[in-house]
Amino acid sequence: MEGTIKEHIKTFTKELGESIDLVAVSKTKPNEDLMEAYEAGQRIFGENKVQEMTDKWEALPKDIQWHMVGHVQTNKVKYMAPYVDLIHAVHKMKLLKEINKRAKESDRVINCLLQVKIAEEDSKYGMSPDELKAFLADEKLPELKNVKLKGLMAMATFTDDENQIHREFKVLEDLYKETSKTQPDFSILSMGMSGDYKIAMEHETTMVRIGSSIFGARH
Ligand SMILES: *Cc1c(COP(=O)(O)O)cnc(C)c1O
Repeated sequence: MEGTIKEHIKTFTKELGESIDLVAVSKTKPNEDLMEAYEAGQRIFGENKVQEMTDKWEALPKDIQWHMVGHVQTNKVKYMAPYVDLIHAVHKMKLLKEINKRAKESDRVINCLLQVKIAEEDSKYGMSPDELKAFLADEKLPELKNVKLKGLMAMATFTDDENQIHREFKVLEDLYKETSKTQPDFSILSMGMSGDYKIAMEHETTMVRIGSSIFGARH
């Protein structure tokens, strides 16, 4: 890939503008790479493993906001509860309850997104639109004072068929608009990765998660 990490950050920041946040997905990449992005002004980094994110949090500047973008195992929540800024992929009540419990122990309120399954291909995690609506209507939800639901996240099918990606992002866009009416804290729609973020921009994404187009391919 041409260009330096610094150049990629600057190009994305300009292209996305003020209304779309950039999560630099730095999983598997060394701290030097993250620091290069940091020096270009990047402050939001995304990881998909709790241990790796915690090691990086300990080593790197404290004004970095750490986002967990991957699937979270319930038993790992406690390790990131003291510092994580946003957990993107909450897919069930049991996990949200554990985040709430660990956030309370750290005297924090942790921001979360609910993961929706929009991909037409089989993917393991995420709620269906109906499950999401039932989840948001759950009477136990307001009791969880140490988590804040900030919006929705999804991944489209990994495919060259742009029409299919448009269809899937449209489902999420509509669902976000609909659920936002009853969710005053909703302000984040996390969709779009290196291969499909331009399509996500046509569907009112507010947060893209870019890895390989910033840091290069992962091995
Ligand atoms: C790895 C990952 C990304 C970034 O993927 P790229 O294709 O490298 O941009 C985005 N979102 C999630 C959930 C990921 O796991």
